[in-house]
Amino acid sequence: MRKIGVLTSGGDSPGMNAAVRAVVRTAIYHNLEVIGVRHGYNGLMQGDFIPMDRSSVGDIIHRGGTILLSARSDEFRTPKGRKKAYANIKEAGMDGLVVIGGDGSFRGAQRLVDEFNFPVIGIPGTIDNDIAGTDYTIGFDTAMNTIIDAINKVRDTATSHERTFIVETMGRHAGFLTLLSGLAGGAESILIPEREFSVQDVVEKLKSGYDRGKLHSIILVAEGISLANEGIDGEFKTNRNLNESMAFYVGKKIEDATGFETRVIILGHLQRGGSPTAQDRILASRLGAAAVELLIKGDSGKMVGIVHDEINVLDFETAVTSKKDINDQIYQLANILSL
Ligand code: ADP
Repeated sequence: MRKIGVLTSGGDSPGMNAAVRAVVRTAIYHNLEVIGVRHGYNGLMQGDFIPMDRSSVGDIIHRGGTILLSARSDEFRTPKGRKKAYANIKEAGMDGLVVIGGDGSFRGAQRLVDEFNFPVIGIPGTIDNDIAGTDYTIGFDTAMNTIIDAINKVRDTATSHERTFIVETMGRHAGFLTLLSGLAGGAESILIPEREFSVQDVVEKLKSGYDRGKLHSIILVAEGISLANEGIDGEFKTNRNLNESMAFYVGKKIEDATGFETRVIILGHLQRGGSPTAQDRILASRLGAAAVELLIKGDSGKMVGIVHDEINVLDFETAVTSKKDINDQIYQLANILSL
């Protein structure tokens, strides 16, 4: 292993820069050369490469987004696209690659391993925390804190105007962000895809709170919830229109059933930005270093995570096929504390 590449792919998340920094500096520490690949897999196919030295990653540990830029790429899903990518990899003299991204990015990485026997190690970077084999993914903690900040602000208005707020959070098909921010933000109800719920139950809870003199409420709704039980079709789609959001239906139903004034807030992409928290910077730094060390050891086709504060290594295959469930104790606790 003399020269490695690093790229960020799929949805960006705060802390990706800290991971890139750790990859570059750990590699240089071990006398490896590093090539930065811009625009994710698109850059691999277009040969959009930049040499990275120590100072190229200076002053980025605190910045959100990714200096390498990210992308989603349909061409990379085709064998032809991946052949093009591999030709550029060979021409640049890369002996291994670190991919920072979500499960989709790992599926792409596995193709490079299978088709060209090319060493790739993955680092989980997504605010959704929906990847098995790691307690947390890079960006999750920052996004949670952004959501809590938003809830605090909404709470001020909810209290002043005695209103019910429905706040929709990201997470794709997963409810990790919604559940934990709901607990930390003191939300009255938390609706997530992993657990059945009925809007009628939310209504009952609101009414009983009202009877006790409570005049405002915050209800957290994960973007990936299904309302099939409510007789509403529709499923989570990326790039959907805002008015397809299930949160509006929840808000309308609550307003109709209670007569309370409700407002819907879709937090959207602001959850993906911002300076990473200390937790995310530490996680990113540890995972970036571990990924490079695995490549040096001759490992490939694996993801690095942290479980119980220890580095955990697992196959991409296991990482993308295992379902990570939410913590049921936390789900129960959030319900009890908001009764
Ligand atoms: P994330 O990594 O955040 O889950 P995506 O699911 O959009 O984001 O995946 C990022 C990119 O990884 C895709 O745009 C595509 O180029 C590549 N990719 C995803 N799945 C595959 C696959 N099955 N085969 C090849 N490439 C894939």
